[in-house]
Amino acid sequence: MHQTDPNQRRFDTDHAIEIAPRVWWVGHVLADDPFQCHVYLIEQGDQSVLFDPGSRLTFATTLRKIEEIIPFSAIRYFVCHHQDPDITACLPLIDELVDRPDAVLVTHWRASALLRHYALERLPFWLVDEHDWRLQLPDRELRFVFTPYAHFPGAFCTFDAETGVLFSSDLFGGFTETPALMAEDIGYFEAMRPFHEHYIPSRDILVHALDQIARHPVRLIAPQHGSIIPAPLVGPIIEQLRELDCGIYLFAGGVDTDIRRLSRLNRTLGEITRTMLYCRDFHDIAARLLEVVRRSLPVARIDYYLELADGEVLGLVADGQEQQRAEQVPAWLRALLGISRARWLGDTAGRCLHGHPMHDERFCCHTGDEGAMSLLLPLFAREGERLEAIAHIHLEHPIEIGAHERQLIAQLMVPLQVVLEREAIYRSIEAERTRTYQRSIRDSLTGLFNRFYMQDIIERQCHAQDRGGPQVAALMLDLDHFKRINDHHGHPVGDALLRQVATLLHGSIRDGDVPVRFGGEEFILFLMDASAEQGRTLAERLRARIAAHQFVLDDGLELRLTVSIGGALRRPGEPLDALVERADKALYTAKQAGRNRAVFAG
Ligand code: GH3
Ligand code: MG
Ligand code: MG
Repeated sequence: MHQTDPNQRRFDTDHAIEIAPRVWWVGHVLADDPFQCHVYLIEQGDQSVLFDPGSRLTFATTLRKIEEIIPFSAIRYFVCHHQDPDITACLPLIDELVDRPDAVLVTHWRASALLRHYALERLPFWLVDEHDWRLQLPDRELRFVFTPYAHFPGAFCTFDAETGVLFSSDLFGGFTETPALMAEDIGYFEAMRPFHEHYIPSRDILVHALDQIARHPVRLIAPQHGSIIPAPLVGPIIEQLRELDCGIYLFAGGVDTDIRRLSRLNRTLGEITRTMLYCRDFHDIAARLLEVVRRSLPVARIDYYLELADGEVLGLVADGQEQQRAEQVPAWLRALLGISRARWLGDTAGRCLHGHPMHDERFCCHTGDEGAMSLLLPLFAREGERLEAIAHIHLEHPIEIGAHERQLIAQLMVPLQVVLEREAIYRSIEAERTRTYQRSIRDSLTGLFNRFYMQDIIERQCHAQDRGGPQVAALMLDLDHFKRINDHHGHPVGDALLRQVATLLHGSIRDGDVPVRFGGEEFILFLMDASAEQGRTLAERLRARIAAHQFVLDDGLELRLTVSIGGALRRPGEPLDALVERADKALYTAKQAGRNRAVFAG
């Protein structure tokens, strides 16, 4: 036993230890046994009770400790909470020792069906399920708590109403490297975690058992393994157990018997899943994933490459703390995206990746030019066989890829796949949304904004101006005698000209100004932060520019155009409609004055 173990000082485990009034620990501390089986005795004259008596390895010591308190023959009840050999293998020895006709083996019928194979001759069964799950003793009642499937369909615990002790058998057990008879603090839960995660098939079953136990006022838990849990820890430990993920032997894949490591892996995956649930943002998830993976592998960074719905390849590469969009996706990585699973498994991985990668069907190791090692995880679409994304894990230094690493990486692939698939979906929804929005605010012929957008955005600018924001001005333009162009050259030529005028206008204004196709061959430009003088100057410049421009059409046809322009500077509090109307009036004046003119109101 460990020298500094505080329990060592407090408890002399060479002898029976009274853990509650007339309740004794009579177990055995076995060298190199992570299970450390405990046996308990309730002493009450010739009606004494022994719980989970133990195995052939431990029984001699247990017998010695019992006899420090009472003669063995004082025990009438031998309770076996289930049938495991570490609890029951000493039964044939007991059967030989017992010489009182009323001694019984207290158990559940399912355990009795197995224990009968010990062919006991003197000890008959006393089945809890046939006795209303209680046993009345001279000075106390024992209540049996059915906790089926917590590790065995007939498993149960015993609650002693007199002392509040729960003899819990495997439940609340733990793995201890340095045996400690009494749990010191909540840290004991870490000893319990791998024990329960591994051997209890599911959390539902565990929670069911905990619910049964919660009906009793438990003041001390005396498990068959690990440490005894004192009153202050009972509540907190039960709470933590309720949150436990169970059944992790499912992940063991036959190669892994290190339950603690499985437990760690299980927690890692749990964290990743939770991160995915709580974080929408890919960058958050990527950062979290990296943090979690780094606990098990020397990972420098993880880059992601995924194929988007439009066939574009998106690279999200680590840059310091952030995942940035990659400027360029390496050609050899791009070549892998879109291939079939069969190709990945066949020649492709070998051919695309330089060197001789160690190649697992799930991922491959890639040795770069300077000997740097990285892992390539192909992520196939769930419903298809296409490789849709790749996680490229850069390692800080080369590692041996053993069964553990393989397993860890394989476990990572599912969450990675979900994250990347989700990101691809989000991105395509976002792109579609942007496209739809752009379509909704732009005129399809010229690409300038439409009147709906104008109404929305310029009204907001007007409010902003009234709150002290930049001055808004409007220039209304109408092409001169445009009908004639259509009449002489046809509508398509008219359309092409409208597009060219739009381009010209767009190129003549500042960022932040808003060019709108107001209707037919009419445009309106909203100038932000322009004075009347600047508005007037721009109007004149535009007029002159269009008048001087040689419009060249597809078939080489060259045309000239003129435009009339009316401008107005928005007055404080002026509604948008009124501003547009004043610009329109100025335009009318320009037309009346002979066209190819700019008139600025006021
Ligand atoms: P002015 O403005 O100088 O008085 O003469 P105008 O001929 O331009 O005047 P009006 O407003 O009467 O005619 C506008 C013409 O613009 C009518 C129509 O043929 C043409 N037009 C309007 N929208 C389009 C369009 O989308 N494509 C083409 N090709 N022509 C259009
Ligand atoms: Mg017109
Ligand atoms: Mg016109």
